[in-house]
Amino acid sequence: MPSKENSGDSKPSFKSLAKKSEEHEFYNNIPKGYTKGGTKYIIVTGSVISGVGKGTFTSSLGNLLSLYHGFKVAPVKFDGYLNFDAGTLNPYRHGEVFVLDDGTECDLDLGSYERMLNKGLSKDNYLTAGKIFKTIIDKERAGKYLGRDVQFIPHVTGEIKNFLRNLSVKRDANIVIVEVGGTIGDIENAYFLEAMRELAHEEGKENVCFINVVYILEPGSLGEQKSKAAQLGLRTLMGLGVQPDIVVCRSERPLNRSVQEKISIYSNVPVKRVINSRDVGDIHAIPLFLKDVGVDQEVIEILGLKGRARACTKEFEKWEELVSKIKSDGKKKVKIGITGKYTAVHDSYISILKALEHTAPYLGASIDVRWIETTNTEKAAKEVEGLDGIIVPGGFGSRGSEGKIACIKYARENNVPFLGLCFGFQMAVLEYARNVAKLGCAASTEIDTDTKEPVICILPEQEEVAGLGGTMRLGGYDMMVKEGTLAHKLYGSTKIRERFRHRFNVNTKYIDKLEEAGMVFSGMAPQKRIMQILELPGHKFFFATQYHPEFTSRPLSPSPVFRGFLEACLEGK
Ligand code: GLN
Repeated sequence: MPSKENSGDSKPSFKSLAKKSEEHEFYNNIPKGYTKGGTKYIIVTGSVISGVGKGTFTSSLGNLLSLYHGFKVAPVKFDGYLNFDAGTLNPYRHGEVFVLDDGTECDLDLGSYERMLNKGLSKDNYLTAGKIFKTIIDKERAGKYLGRDVQFIPHVTGEIKNFLRNLSVKRDANIVIVEVGGTIGDIENAYFLEAMRELAHEEGKENVCFINVVYILEPGSLGEQKSKAAQLGLRTLMGLGVQPDIVVCRSERPLNRSVQEKISIYSNVPVKRVINSRDVGDIHAIPLFLKDVGVDQEVIEILGLKGRARACTKEFEKWEELVSKIKSDGKKKVKIGITGKYTAVHDSYISILKALEHTAPYLGASIDVRWIETTNTEKAAKEVEGLDGIIVPGGFGSRGSEGKIACIKYARENNVPFLGLCFGFQMAVLEYARNVAKLGCAASTEIDTDTKEPVICILPEQEEVAGLGGTMRLGGYDMMVKEGTLAHKLYGSTKIRERFRHRFNVNTKYIDKLEEAGMVFSGMAPQKRIMQILELPGHKFFFATQYHPEFTSRPLSPSPVFRGFLEACLEGK
């Protein structure tokens, strides 16, 4: 017999939801310490087309609610693909693989959240369909479903709600802001939206705010804005039982009033909550724009957070200062060459670009990036001539590696500031080994398995590793920095922590030879003999890291590595 409170004609109580029972159709594990209404939820979805800035909107709203209003905000990205994480995704197709301190390999949106919210995140902030289904299959095999047939509703949706509520408890979050990847109508996120509909029902409408980002088309041949695609997207969303509270319209030109009204009529959303988010150029200025148009106030009203919002925190003032620095005139332009295999997709290097972009204004500079395709070695070496600085970023495999080595040689011989990141660090070691330490055929076993001089080789801990997913040396590790070196000067400390993503490293057998030839290894792992920073004394700036400083560089606290590099690029300008 179903219990009275679950008979279907009234809302289930939280107590009944938490009860594990075969008697009813609910499946929820309300975590210990969770109180309904203690955490508010904002669900951001997108319609019409993908790639219209849902991630930018989500992180900007998060910025405003945490940095300005002082709320504890926990962001979540939901990705509908069946991969467990982003580790095996090709950056050429999907953009950069971002790495969190706990070693989670995730979507680049998490990088944007860390930068915009100015805080570190973990695996609890990233959910993929693969992760949900793995959890479910593992539980089913362990017999945790009490003899029930495992279903999309309530089990899959239950796991999703559970994930969000767990996050809320772990972070003691005032607001959980969820970005649903893909667009409304995709099979990939349908059950996720169903989970959000259920969440709103269980938590109460006053605790969940739905924001749908639409794109307003303006075909060149017509010369006017058309709202039909957006209307259809909204209709699909409402057909799934989700009533949006706010509609954000992205458009190339300012939204005209009649389009705004049409959207309002079709979506039951008051006109003042149909908001136009136009291009403001610089991503850092978007929180300020959202504040000007009052999105934060609408969200605060919808979620009943009025009395709990603080006004203007110190961090937000710093943010505003940065935005005005970015806008100010008279900045010195620095020409930075970035070598890369994925030069066609700039999103593959988004964290590097962001690190340059948010560090430069502090130095009164702006960045002019030149992409250097390195598959043609001679051409690449020519293209770096005349640049103010060269970055050789991370990478995998042989394609373009000789071209990268040629660019590094040019930087070393011509006293041009050079920054090597991960694979770039390894290529800098090879260049030095070949051309200075006279190890003519120095190579990496990643590229040439039978090389006679394996100067870069697989990490010992990686030798036995099978499979490619989540198996690299990943995430944040503590490091030691040698006193009196450039690294020490930049970081101002002998103990640092940075994020890694690699399988290969400097072969310990060659460290002495390289040091005798003049290379200084100024950062290393505390217990193992893993070399992690290299530099060349006497050079304007020749610095490379086995780790990725771009992952920890934030607008309010730029990486000392990027700062040092740009300062050197600016020298004499
Ligand atoms: N392919 C190199 C390694 O696995 C470098 C990795 C990287 O650049 N992230 O060590």
